[in-house]
Amino acid sequence: MRILLVGPPGAGKGTQAALLARSLGIPHISTGDLFRANISQGTPLGQQAKAFMDEGRLVPDEVTIGMAKDRMEQPDAEGGFLLDGFPRNVAQAEALDVILKEGGLTLDAVLDLEVPEDEVVKRIAGRRMCRKDSSHIFHVVYSPSKADGVCDVCGGELYQREDDREDTVRKRLEVYHTETEPIIDYYKSQELVTTIPALAEVSEVTRRAMAALGRD
Ligand code: AMP
Repeated sequence: MRILLVGPPGAGKGTQAALLARSLGIPHISTGDLFRANISQGTPLGQQAKAFMDEGRLVPDEVTIGMAKDRMEQPDAEGGFLLDGFPRNVAQAEALDVILKEGGLTLDAVLDLEVPEDEVVKRIAGRRMCRKDSSHIFHVVYSPSKADGVCDVCGGELYQREDDREDTVRKRLEVYHTETEPIIDYYKSQELVTTIPALAEVSEVTRRAMAALGRD
C-alpha cells in the first residue's frame, strides 16, 4: 500500500504513522525525521535544512523532493510506504505524481487527520520527543513519561523540538494553511482523501485510520 498522512502540525501524524506503518508492514517515511537525522549527523543537507526548520518555514522543494525520492527508492519501500509530512505543497504533490508514474505506481489513500486548531497548539506546546527514536513521542500532560525527561520505551533523553516553541508553531500553522492545505483539494480531485477525526485516544484514531484503509 502507498499511503499519505496529512494534517496540521500537532495532529498526531508522527504517532499514527509509526503505529500504522508497523501494522501494515511498510516503512514510515517522514521528511521531518529525515531532516532531523541529517541535522544531528551534521550533513550538508542538514545544514541547508536547519535554518528553514528553525523558522518554521518549508525547506526548498529542490532539496526536499530529491531526498524524499531517494528514500522512496530504497529496497524496503518497494512493497509500499506511508508518507508523513511529504508532500507539503502542490509542487511537491505534482513531483510525487511524476515519481510514482515513472515507477508505474499509484497512491492508495490520503488520510487527513483533523484536529481543532486550539488543540493543536496545546499538543505541540507539551510535546516531547526521544533523541534515540523519533517514533517515541510523549506529552507532558496527555501522555507523560514515567520518569521526567526519560523515554519509557528505550531510556533515551526526551527533548522539546526547537521548532515546537510558540513563535515557530504559529509560523508552521500559517505555512500549513497557505501551502499544505491546498494539497487536500488536489487529492480530493483524485478521490483519494478520507478525513479522520483525530481528537480522540491514540488507539481510537489508529482504529479509524485502519478502518478507512479497509483493514478493520
Ligand atoms: P515535521 O517533523 O513533519 O513537523 O517537519 C518539521 C519541519 O521540517 C517542517 O516545519 C519543515 O521546516 C521541514 N519539512 C518537513 N517536511 C517537509 C517538506 N515536505 N517540505 C518542506 N519542508 C519540510
